[in-house]
This record gives sequence, structure tokens and C-alpha cells, in this order.
Amino acid sequence: MTILLSERYGDGVDCAEARPVVERFVACGVLRHTVVKPVAQTARTLAHSAVRQGMRTIIKWLTMTGACIAALPAAAEATGPAPARPTPAAIHVIHEPPTDPSHRAVYELVQGDATFARARDVFTLFNLPKPITIRTRSCSGRGGAWYYEGTVTICYGYVQTILDNARSPERPSWVSEDAAIAGPMADVVLHEGAHALFEFLKTPLLGREEDAADMFATFVLLNVFRADAKALISGIAYSYLNDARVRNFTELPAIENRVLPSRAYGGAHSTPLQRLYSVICHASGFDEAVFRDLKRSSDLPVWRAGGCEDEYNQIAHAFRTLLGPHIDADRAKAMFPYANLTAAPTP
Ligand SMILES: [Zn+2]
Repeated sequence: MTILLSERYGDGVDCAEARPVVERFVACGVLRHTVVKPVAQTARTLAHSAVRQGMRTIIKWLTMTGACIAALPAAAEATGPAPARPTPAAIHVIHEPPTDPSHRAVYELVQGDATFARARDVFTLFNLPKPITIRTRSCSGRGGAWYYEGTVTICYGYVQTILDNARSPERPSWVSEDAAIAGPMADVVLHEGAHALFEFLKTPLLGREEDAADMFATFVLLNVFRADAKALISGIAYSYLNDARVRNFTELPAIENRVLPSRAYGGAHSTPLQRLYSVICHASGFDEAVFRDLKRSSDLPVWRAGGCEDEYNQIAHAFRTLLGPHIDADRAKAMFPYANLTAAPTP
């Protein structure tokens, strides 16, 4: 079987990354004969459909031949020594053209959104055994976001909800429209990407993985995106208020005695208001002065507010202890010299 690879595949699959995948399948005997070479410019148009079909086949095989992939390290050892230093895993960001015409505006927004490039920079810090793909797409009426087998999926319907909330005339003045978009966008990409890290790195977790993913996102926002952290955290707080079906902290007393359906307490995630109070508590624990107003507005219970610095320090310690050893310290220092991601805090 012959597969031609162009230098850049139209759907965003980088063929420089695909090339070793093809070669691995050859090593497994899945492909009997393969020609891997750039498609000539003049032949690009004619070859495009063949390339597209070939790439789809490769991706399908990639997901169907786990046993083959698992057997590959031994084969790799036989063909040459392993690199002395781990290399960063590839982080692919793919914005699929929407199948639902109503998602056109959202599609254009995500293409120009800096969130994805910034998240890719963060995940590139980690030495990972496999690539992570961050994909945005129409989801046949579904509007969520999730992680599954190396791929973060964010549905355009989910982004549309963020946009609608940000542009609502009921949005309170303490959160800007830009922050109401950028905050939850950064949060969802980091949260879902955290699931990939936990899986790839076999990170031990005491407590629910969904809470740990929230903490990961908060820690990264505060430390890596520090210059924008105040705005981003306000946007996340606003999104959790919306999840709780209110727009502002001032509406919380009115729902104080609201009882949620029992299933809401049985889910893997904390409830929206628990996530709201946690992100505000941890942000104020990181920098009390910066987040004082948000903390005061939220009316965070006083018996928790006093322990927010301890809560934040516990998260920071866990991040640096469990994930820090998997971060390339030199790369982190070069990219984010102000962020302490790897060193354990001084006792
Ligand atoms: Zn999750």
C-alpha cells in the first residue's frame, strides 16, 4: 500500500508528526509497503483526496491497534538507542470546520483565540509519552467538552454558550466581555488537558479527578497566565454563576435554599457553586490583594476564607511534587521565567 504525505495536511494534521506514525505501522506489519515523501506542489490538488483518505486510514489504525503500539518500544530499542533526554510531546490543535452553519461565528472566534496557543505552550512543557490533540468541532447537538484517549474535544455549542453569557445584557460590571470569554475558554482547555496529563503520567490523586483537573487549571492560570489572572478568574467565576443559573453574586441569597436534583450531587464534578467558591478561594490564597474584591463580593464563608492560603499552598505543593518532575525545567524557565512550576516550596 502506498501513502503519500504532503508537508501539511489540509485538516491540520502535521505530516512531520504523521511520518513516524506511518513508519511505526510499517514496523508492526500493518502496512506492507509505504512510500513517505512530500507531495509535489503541482500534484498537490490531484493527490489531495488520496492524501486525505490515507491520513484518515492512519488515524483509524492508530486508534484500533493498541496491541501493536504497545509492542513498539521493544522494536524501537532494536533499531537504535533511545534519546538521552525526553522530548516534549506534540500538542496538536485542530479547529474543524463546523458541520452546523450556526457555528460559523464560533469557528472563526476559536481560530483567532490565543487560548489554544497558550495552552499548547503549557502542555509542551511536559515530557509525555504520547501527543495530545485539542480539537474543536460541531457535536451533533451536544454542547459539552471532554477528554478521551489523548484527545480534548470542545464542542462549538459549548463555546456558543460562553459567548452568549459574555454578551448578555445581564453580565455584571465586575467581569468584562473579553474576560467572560477568555476565562472559561482557558479553564476548559486546561481542565480537559489535565485529564490527559493525569492519564499519561499516571498521576496519583487523592480525591476526585474532576476536582484535581480544576485545581490544575487554576494553578496554571494563576502562575503561567499571571498577567491576566485577575480577568481570567473573574470570567471563570461568572461562568460558574451562569452554570448555577444566576448572573451575579447578589442573586445568591435568593437561591440559598435551592435544592438541586439528587443526580447533581452524584456526578463526578463538584457542583457549580462549589467550583465557584473553590476557584475564588484558591485565587485569593495565591494573591489576597489582587482577588480581595472578588472574594468579598462572593461572600465566601468566613470559616473557609481564613484557610484559602493553606488550600492554595497545598495545590502548589501537589502540582510541583507530582507534575514538576515531568516538566522540562529549562524549557519552563525559558518560556515562563516568572512561574515556579517545578521547585518544591521552601519548608
Ligand atoms: Zn473533567
